[in-house]
Amino acid sequence: MKRYHRECIERVKPYVPGKPIEEVQRELELNEVVKLASNEHPIGPSPKALRAIRENLGTINRYPDSSCYYLKKALAKHLSVKEENLLIGNGSDETITLAVKAFVNEGDEVVIATPTFLIYEIAAQVANAMIRLVPMRDLRYDLKAMAAAAGKAAKMVFIANPDNPTGTYVRRAELEEFLDAVGPHTIVFLDEAYFEFAKDLGDYPDGLAYLGRPNLIVARTFSKAYGLAGLRVGYAASTPELIGYLDRVREPFNVNMLAQVAARAALDDRKFLKATLAHVKKEKAYLAASLGAMGLECVESATNFILVNVRVDCRALFERLLREGVIVRDMQVWGFDTYIRVTAGTRAENRKFLGALEKALRAIRAPKEKP
Ligand code: PMP
Repeated sequence: MKRYHRECIERVKPYVPGKPIEEVQRELELNEVVKLASNEHPIGPSPKALRAIRENLGTINRYPDSSCYYLKKALAKHLSVKEENLLIGNGSDETITLAVKAFVNEGDEVVIATPTFLIYEIAAQVANAMIRLVPMRDLRYDLKAMAAAAGKAAKMVFIANPDNPTGTYVRRAELEEFLDAVGPHTIVFLDEAYFEFAKDLGDYPDGLAYLGRPNLIVARTFSKAYGLAGLRVGYAASTPELIGYLDRVREPFNVNMLAQVAARAALDDRKFLKATLAHVKKEKAYLAASLGAMGLECVESATNFILVNVRVDCRALFERLLREGVIVRDMQVWGFDTYIRVTAGTRAENRKFLGALEKALRAIRAPKEKP
């Protein structure tokens, strides 16, 4: 049979997203389903963002502003950087794929930790790059090993800080040592999708503090703390030179009009962000305490989700939770066969999850406990 695809595409494992609520409702004929599988905002979007969307609905017959002029201006002010330091993307996902597209040639080395956000590996595979996977140490990025793997040859290194799915973070001193260790030929892509949840930890490094370096790209998103996942908007910050190359490879209208106005309004809604962070902190603590009381081990998380060792087959548990109307993420694709990842939801959602978890664990363990 004729082969149409590029050979490297054969190796790409399709990204498996968290199961959508509607799909579970349809397939399992359930009315009430809670989704704690994609680290989304449990309450949002911000009322200010909603108002901005409503006010702009009447102009969607027009193309969006290709340059994202007003959003970029507002963001530059908010971050104390220049507009030429910024590129707005269709989610921060897009900034990852744009970076690989702009800078990674076929056969170039790309250093990626494992387990981490899967898009890095997918983007590198699509580019037919040479991927160097560096295992984490105690579920934390091993930056010494990553610097060694990057050596003199690597074109790009990805760091998720904090990381998904572990929720752990790289400390300031570790990051600085790493940035000094990698050569100028290597682009460091620092993915701060969960920045807002981690920023107040004393030793968490704000990536933008290192923007003076010629080889650093920092990415952030409006999908998590700002509650706009469905609109797809995120950004990259870097030197004007690197931003210029990212800009060349993006599609002209990559960020839709409603995303642009909503992101701008959400940036302005400090009250909403403050309430979000307080909510996530409280609910994460509630989940961790409740899981701990069930004898389950949680990884300390700097994000809005928790990785839990459930000590049973995570796929079987995932299926049982689904039948109870609770969607979580099982860690099988990462090779963590007894772990699940759960997003901090509303108190009612978290309660439903904990109840379903208890029931599911009892059912899974039961046959083994019989004589
Ligand atoms: N980076 C990390 C580490 C993530 O977990 C996610 C979302 N799951 C993203 C990037 C992408 O987020 P978005 O494209 O919605 O901005």
